[in-house]
Amino acid sequence: MDSSDKKLPKMDSCVNVEREVDKVLSKFAAVGDHSSRTLQDLVEHISNIRKELSEGNNDSDVTATQSLVLNQCLKKVKDTCQRLSNDHKDLHSSVSKVGKAIDRNFIQDISACSVEGAFVGVEKRSLLNEVICEHFFRQGMLDIGEQLIQDARLQIDEAQKEPFFELNRILEALKEHNLFPALEWAKRNRERLQQQSSALEFKLHRLHFIELLKGGPARQMEALLYSRNFEPFAYHHAKEIQTLMGSLLYVQQGVHNSPYLHLLDPIHWLDICDVFTRDACQLLGLSVESPLSVAFAAGCISLPSLLNINHVMKQRQCTNVWNQKDELPIEIDLGGETRYHSIFACPILRQQTTETNPPVRLVCGHVISRDALNKLNTNNKVKCPYCPMEQNAVDARPVQF
Ligand SMILES: [Zn+2]
Repeated sequence: MDSSDKKLPKMDSCVNVEREVDKVLSKFAAVGDHSSRTLQDLVEHISNIRKELSEGNNDSDVTATQSLVLNQCLKKVKDTCQRLSNDHKDLHSSVSKVGKAIDRNFIQDISACSVEGAFVGVEKRSLLNEVICEHFFRQGMLDIGEQLIQDARLQIDEAQKEPFFELNRILEALKEHNLFPALEWAKRNRERLQQQSSALEFKLHRLHFIELLKGGPARQMEALLYSRNFEPFAYHHAKEIQTLMGSLLYVQQGVHNSPYLHLLDPIHWLDICDVFTRDACQLLGLSVESPLSVAFAAGCISLPSLLNINHVMKQRQCTNVWNQKDELPIEIDLGGETRYHSIFACPILRQQTTETNPPVRLVCGHVISRDALNKLNTNNKVKCPYCPMEQNAVDARPVQF
């Protein structure tokens, strides 16, 4: 199905809802017109009566005719109010029709695309709550996370929370251009950061140096002294250190008027937050993105396609195609950012390989699954289904991705 096909139903839905909205709007206008005209007439009528009454003799009692006129007027006011209130009620029903039109045209039953019982049961629900809680901690919403722990009676020990607390504290400081908590953390974890070839500590020192440069001649000496901190990084960052030292020559005339202007770019502050998050998460064995937001985003991307395919399957009455609910009926591309690890689907058996059924490389270079190899194997001889080279089944080697 191409994209223009997908747009059509949505466009229809918009038109349907718009039709109801137009009805409501014209009704609003008509009722508004009518009621203001009626009220105006009524006001005129009443002021005429008042005028007539005041022109009469104030001392005498109300005459029988006057009393009749007044009673009639009173009735007219009551009737008009009743009619206006009925019109108003009528408007309500038109407005609620718009709501129903939206429900009918936009809100689809997504239960067909969900796995039954995915969140049913105490254990699963508590797992879901834990994931939500971790998400809050990750986003720095610590008090909301704590509240959820209490309300959902979760068992999360302090040691599990601490890394998030610390990362958030450091990140908050970095956002306020305070490098020290991050520097202190990086020094504490220097060895492990180096093992994962992180440039975090160097970049933090560099930013501090740049801040000193911004201080002009008054802080030139301080900057020069601080440059000693670059020493442990000389091997990996020689070129960048040279650039930083070169910038010292321009402190007198102002670095912003020099070829070293790029050092002052505020983007370095944004960059350091990213570098810190990425490297610290890697060191702590956490994923950089919150698993919950990644899963949610993936669901949002794939839902329209799944609803579409579900619709088509219902139309063609082949709903049983999708009874293997832990497997999607179609392949959905979520884009490169959500690709985390490679999987291999056997081209012969069309199954994803597993640890017990790993991919194997044949002598000719073609790769199939172990199960497929076993099926093709006759007396230890295998004919590659692709090239088709004859070979010994035992020569096939497992492949790691
Ligand atoms: Zn082959």
